[in-house]
Amino acid sequence: MVRVSLEDLYKEVILDHYRTPRNKGRLDPHDVLLERNNPLCGDEIELFLKFEGDDLQGISFDGKGCSISLASTSMMTEKVQGLSLEDARQVTESIKRMMAGEEEGDMNELGDLVSLKGVVKYPVRIKCALLGWNTLLEGLEEGKPAST
Ligand code: ZN
Repeated sequence: MVRVSLEDLYKEVILDHYRTPRNKGRLDPHDVLLERNNPLCGDEIELFLKFEGDDLQGISFDGKGCSISLASTSMMTEKVQGLSLEDARQVTESIKRMMAGEEEGDMNELGDLVSLKGVVKYPVRIKCALLGWNTLLEGLEEGKPAST
């Protein structure tokens, strides 16, 4: 029996998203387009968001960069698509806490995203992993209803 460590499993998840990114490409129509980059590594992403009421109806991304940044963003789109803006924000905050090495909250809730936890050991990579998430947080701000 081949012994597969948890770390290997995490790497597989990340590689899978890197090789086969989910929700990659332009989203039309969209409400928000944000372009952000991580100069430390050269990662660049474009994030497309489409809102429907208080929900994040659609999300896609495009860009180039290292495997961590692209895989993390791919996983993010899969995770938050269809969530309410508030839930999407909470997932993002959980990820940021996890990447800061803080209390992790409900890890089951995060699913495959837990695989990003291995990145915490490589501080230089944390910015790569959080590029998409920080961009999403900015985008969600623009999704607040104009009137309540
Ligand atoms: Zn990177």
